[in-house]
Amino acid sequence: MARARIRHPCLAKERIAMDVALFTCLADNYAVLIRDDATGTVALVDAPASEPVIAELDRRGWGLDLILVTHKHHDHIEGVPALVARYGAKVLAPAQATDALPQADRFVKEGDRLMVGDTVVEVWDTPGHCADHVSFHLPAQQMIFVGDTMFTMGCGRIFNLPPDMLYAALKRIGDLPEATRIYSGHEYTLSNARFALATEPDNAAIQSRLQAVEAMRAKGTPTVPTTVAEERATNVFLRARDVAEFAARREAKNRF
Ligand code: ZN
Ligand code: FE
Repeated sequence: MARARIRHPCLAKERIAMDVALFTCLADNYAVLIRDDATGTVALVDAPASEPVIAELDRRGWGLDLILVTHKHHDHIEGVPALVARYGAKVLAPAQATDALPQADRFVKEGDRLMVGDTVVEVWDTPGHCADHVSFHLPAQQMIFVGDTMFTMGCGRIFNLPPDMLYAALKRIGDLPEATRIYSGHEYTLSNARFALATEPDNAAIQSRLQAVEAMRAKGTPTVPTTVAEERATNVFLRARDVAEFAARREAKNRF
C-alpha cells in the first residue's frame, strides 16, 4: 500500500493538494485512487476488479465519483460495472472503446480536459500497446497515469501495431519534467530490471536500480510510481536510439 501526498509548491495548497492511494488488484495490476482535497472528489484510474477498490474506499471513508479508463483490456475494466452500480460513478473511457464500454458517460481523446474536483487532468492519446490507449496527465501535480504504455523500467507489449506508435508515446512521456511521477498499470519491474541489465550490462544506474528493485519486491513494496528522471536513466525502451533499436528490444523482451 503506497500513499503519497502531492503538493505543488508554487500554488495555493487548497487548489492543488491531493491524496493518492495505489493498491494491487488481481495478480499484478495496480489501481490508483486520487482525491482532490478542495472538493473531496474521488477518481479511480483503471478498475481491474471491484473488491479491492471497495475495500480501499471503505478503509478511507471515501465515495467514488469518477472512473478513468486508460484502455479496454479486461484487466483494466472488469471492475467497472460493479463500481458503477455501487457508487453511481461516471465512467470516462478512450474514444474507440465504445464496444468494450458502451455504458461510459464520456469518451475522451487527445486534447480533452477533465476536472477531478478542482484538479485539471489532460488527456493524451498514447497508442502503441493497443490502438485506443489514453494517458491522464495532471500537470500541476506533476503526475501521469500511463496504463500499459510504459512500466517502471519497461513498456507494454505491442498488439499488432507498428512499433513507432509506442516508441513515440514513450518519448513523449520521457520529455515531461524530470520530477514527474509515472503511474503504470502493472508490477513487472523485477523482470524489466533484469532485462534492462542484460541489454545494457555496463549501465551503473541500471545495476544499482536492479538491486533496489530486488530489495523492494522482497518486502512487497510497489515500484510504482517511478519518475521521468529514473526512467531516462534506466528504461532501455525509452533509451533506445531509434525506432529500430526500440523494436528489436521489444522483440527481445518478448522472448526474455
Ligand atoms: Zn493492457
Ligand atoms: Fe494490463
